[in-house]
Amino acid sequence: TILANQISAGEVVERPASVVKELVENSLDAHSTEIDVTIENSGLKLIKVVDDGDGIESSQVQTAFLRHATSKITEQRDLFRVRTLGFRGEALPSISSVANVLLKTSTGSVGTQVEYKGGKLVAQKAAESRKGTTVIVSSLFYNTPARLKYLSSPNTELSKISDIVNRLALSHPEVSFSLVSNDRELLRTSGRGDMLQVLGAIYGVKTVSKMKPIKAKTPDISVSGYVSLPELTRSSRNYISLILNGRYVRNFPLTKAVINGYGSKLMIGRFPIAVVKITVDPALVDVNVHPTKQEVRISEEPKIGGMLSEAIRTMLANQQLIPDA
Ligand code: ADP
Ligand code: MG
Repeated sequence: TILANQISAGEVVERPASVVKELVENSLDAHSTEIDVTIENSGLKLIKVVDDGDGIESSQVQTAFLRHATSKITEQRDLFRVRTLGFRGEALPSISSVANVLLKTSTGSVGTQVEYKGGKLVAQKAAESRKGTTVIVSSLFYNTPARLKYLSSPNTELSKISDIVNRLALSHPEVSFSLVSNDRELLRTSGRGDMLQVLGAIYGVKTVSKMKPIKAKTPDISVSGYVSLPELTRSSRNYISLILNGRYVRNFPLTKAVINGYGSKLMIGRFPIAVVKITVDPALVDVNVHPTKQEVRISEEPKIGGMLSEAIRTMLANQQLIPDA
């Protein structure tokens, strides 16, 4: 029902950035190689995501807007081996219950266009046939004034969108991303690069020259990424990004482990910039913690944390052996 969707929208669609996250994750799940995000007025007026992914079959388009209609899990045990980013089937119904949504999609042959207003289908027709999906969300939260009131300033909401897109781009250097806000380009990645190239696109080459690679591996866990030298810090932990099995996640113990790797080299209240990719057996990860799936639990947390801290200590020790150029 529309009401149930609005209730779950409260959890899934907290702010414009959550919409961007859900739409881009859908594009990633659909094997896109290019994802272009356009924003107007911090996402309240418009959020547009264009991808070149698999598309949705005409017969499945309406199903995609039904609650818990996910094409990504077929058996309950799949929940414990989640590999795709989305799996709850809540995003499209939730978003469409609190906005106007136009979705245009094609699997390569004939395409389909649907339009939802406040959770109701108002139009469906055949559409152009380029393979991929375009979703346009407009008038976000037009029917939930309480949600609108709770939002932060337009600049803060925009920076949250920018943050999310940056992190998704970092987790997927093989996909070319762009983010344009009110005609201003905030990010463009090549899709041919490694993590370092994406970091350069986000922070600039000068900043990235102060970031160093780290690496650690056991038979069942691998850790790699880039972390800043102690001279390059920020006043918040937010610049520490964790990518677990291709998914950007939040995990306090592992964030702490990154900071601990620096020991006393960080000034009080200062934090490094870090992007760390962690690969473990999906059976060790519990992603089913919260609807937005960012906070995860990992059964090997202490072990992974130890590897992280140690890899950073090693990198810092090696730096001291290299004479200044
Ligand atoms: P979930 O991602 O949890 O499955 P969503 O509500 O986000 O649920 O999406 C519902 C379904 O719509 C997905 O399972 C997928 O089949 C389809 N879908 C949504 N967005 C796209 C897209 N950009 N490309 C291809 N399929 C999509
Ligand atoms: Mg999804």
